[in-house]
Formats: sequence, structure tokens, C-alpha cells
Amino acid sequence: AYLDRIAAQDDVLGAYLHVDAEAALARAAEVDVARAEGEELGSLAGLPVALKDVFVTQGVPTTSGSKILEGWRPPYDATVAARLKAAGTVLLGKTNMDEFAMGSSTENSAYRPTRNPWDPDRIPGGSSGGSSTAVAGGLAPWALGTDTGGSIRQPAAMTGLVGHKPTYGGVSRYGLIAFSSSLDQAGPMARTVLDAAVLHEAIGGHDRCDSTSIDAPAPVLTKAVREGARGELAGLRVGVVRELGGDGHAEGYDAGVLERVRETVELLAGMGAEVREVSCPAFDLALPAYYLIAPSEASSNLARFEGMRFGLRVGDDGSRSLEEVMSLTREQGFGPEVKRRIVLGTYALSAGYYDAYYGQAQKVRTLITRDFTAAFDDVDVLVSPTSPTVAWPIGARVDDPLAMYAADLCTLPASLAGLPAISVPCGLSEGLPVGFQVMAPALADDRCYRVAAAVE
Ligand code: GLN
Repeated sequence: AYLDRIAAQDDVLGAYLHVDAEAALARAAEVDVARAEGEELGSLAGLPVALKDVFVTQGVPTTSGSKILEGWRPPYDATVAARLKAAGTVLLGKTNMDEFAMGSSTENSAYRPTRNPWDPDRIPGGSSGGSSTAVAGGLAPWALGTDTGGSIRQPAAMTGLVGHKPTYGGVSRYGLIAFSSSLDQAGPMARTVLDAAVLHEAIGGHDRCDSTSIDAPAPVLTKAVREGARGELAGLRVGVVRELGGDGHAEGYDAGVLERVRETVELLAGMGAEVREVSCPAFDLALPAYYLIAPSEASSNLARFEGMRFGLRVGDDGSRSLEEVMSLTREQGFGPEVKRRIVLGTYALSAGYYDAYYGQAQKVRTLITRDFTAAFDDVDVLVSPTSPTVAWPIGARVDDPLAMYAADLCTLPASLAGLPAISVPCGLSEGLPVGFQVMAPALADDRCYRVAAAVE
């Protein structure tokens, strides 16, 4: 059924970069045979899933939304892909994304933009916009995305889905094409909080292939979902972050978004939560700090794409030096946003500027973490809008990188501090979905799910 919907709709929606219907049907048949023969099946046996094209998948084209990886078939599976395979899932395909996950609208894909099923003239958020459109449009029951500065939560908000960025280190990054390694996390995008929790449980837990993976027991989340769904919030202390849309900080926010968020906070109070406003002054600096740290790490991570080892190679006809082939390949293989970030990051890391830019940004990152630590002395979770606005029209921000970056205002603090954060739908504004963000201390992902289930 999902393959039929993909065939009927994806020409318009552009959710997928690669679909292999035959392979998916063969895999589904395999699961059926195993079931018929009474074999022990994985916990998700036969369930289709879509993966953002940033996850490497053995033998299946993987581009990270870039021309520089066109035609590359990875020789191994990312840990999360391997875990989903072992659980018995059927891979529907690889979903569209901003090139190397750099963007907030999926318009930076080197292949095609993705459209929002709620209004095909609007963006589906980004960078995991292929995954959000696939799930919201019924072209997959659920999907994995990645979130460096908001790329799971923001597209989930823009398409009416649940999206969770796990605690940094909670889900393996092995086999995830690196953008900004100190920030990147994989996580679930789904239609319900329970679906997201089930998918998260299947991919989470320690992985010895990832040196930043936390050596803790696999997360247990579905219990928290059940508690939240029963509205059991008595005594839960909820902090509303003033710097994210509160008094004096509402510029750039849609009135309708703030209204839905306010109503949702009232709903939580009605279930017994103790609500108070919390101030986190360093959050005002999250945007400039992130847009130094992420490009700096990207400039280093993307050095591996030099035309020798993966995908595209340009001008290798025997007449050019190695360096010329490398620079031609990078010139033609990378899109404008990726180049902008490589230049910015290389500059910020260069001798003489390192302390003034990268060093300062790292200090701001520490201040943001301290704001969270202080806030979590007084409250159990922090809440805010997920995105200052609803989905905007395709094209509206493509020529204005700063307007594009401003879309990440609310999601960046939790990213910089490595904390878990979920986006759950909380109603509509102008007929378009609004997301409510719940942030929690490290390894308290279950709190995000509990509150999200109460909101749902
Ligand atoms: N929009 C942010 C950026 O462009 C976040 C992207 C992400 O989380 N991958 O960097």
C-alpha cells in the first residue's frame, strides 16, 4: 500500500530520493515466509520504514542530498539501519534532505525540493523534510531523521508529526554521514507519540562502533507514553522559556504559534503540572554560536569528499594534477549552502581567528548548558514553540540565509547542550500545523515522551 502511494504521489511531493519497490516486496515476502515457518521474528517484523538519505545503507544508494555522492553504494549499514533490519523492518526507500543536512526547508537538496502534504506550495521543514513529508503524506508509516540543530523537530512541527531528538550519545552515529559531529543525533519521526517511542527503542542504546555512544541500558519509553496519555502529570514542574517567544522575545514569532503554545501550557496545568516562567539568557546567543560551531565541524568533516574515495570524480582524464581533480570535484559536487559553510567554518578555525570565533562560540555553548542546568534545578521539563512560524511558501527564504537560519531559534539550545527534545503537534495556525517542544535533562528522554503523550 505504501509503495502504491509513493508511485501515485511522490512525483509531486518529492519525499524520496531512492525507492526500490522490488527489493522492498522481496524483503516483505521473506518476512512472510519466516512467519509462516514459525521462525522467531523481530519486534517490528514486516513493518515498512523510510530512512533519511544521510544514513548509509549497504548496497543501497546514499547521497546525503548531494551530487558529490551520486552513484555511491555504501559497503555497510549504519548501526540504526542494521538494528531496524534485525528487528524485521522493510526499507521503503531513502528520503530527500537538504544537502549534508544543511538547511531548514529541504530546498537545499541537490536533487529536488520536497513539498509539504498540507499545502504543496509550502516547504515541509528541513533538513529531514523528505522523512516528514513521507510520513505526513502517508508514503511511510514512520521514518528516521537526523537532528543537528533542529532537523527532526522542525520538519515534524511543520507537517503535524511527532519528532524526537534523543540525548546526544543515546543513539549511535555510526554510519551517519557526519555534518557536525558534536551535535548530530538520529531519531524517530512518526504520526503518534507511541510510534515514535517504539521506533526510538528499536534504534537506541549503546554501540561500541560510536565512541560518543553512552554506555547506558537501552531506553525504555513506552511506559512513559502510557502515563502521559492517561494525563498523569500531577507534580510535574514545567518551565516556559521566556527567551523562546515569551514577553519581550516574541519578535519573528507567528501570533498563532504563540497562541497554540499558550493553550497547550494551560492544558498541562489543567492536568496537574506546576507551570512557571524560566529565564535562560544565554539562549539569545544560540543562533550565532551554532552557526560558527556547526560550519566549523562541517568544514573538517566534509574534507573527506575529495573525489578519490566516494561518488563523483570530475576531470580525471590524465591531464590534471590530483589537486586540480579534487578542487574541480568539490566545485561541481557541492551546492552553494555547503560551500558557504565550508568557507565560513574554515575561516573560523584558521590560525589567528580560532579564539575570536570558534573559541567564543564554545564558551557560549557552555553558558547555554549552564542555563539548562540552573533551570533543571527548579523544573522537570522546559517547553517552547518548536518553530517560530508555520511552514512558509517554497522559495520565500532561499535567497536569504539569515532568514533560513532564524527558523532554528527554538531548537538550537537543546542541540548545543546535547539534551533530549521532542516536538508534538498542538493544533493549527492559518490551517497549518504548529509544534510544541518539550526539552528535558540528559538521559531523561522519557520525560519528553510523557509530556508529549499528555499533549497529543
Ligand atoms: N537548519 C539547521 C542547519 O541548517 C539545522 C540542520 C540540522 O539539524 N541538520 O544547520
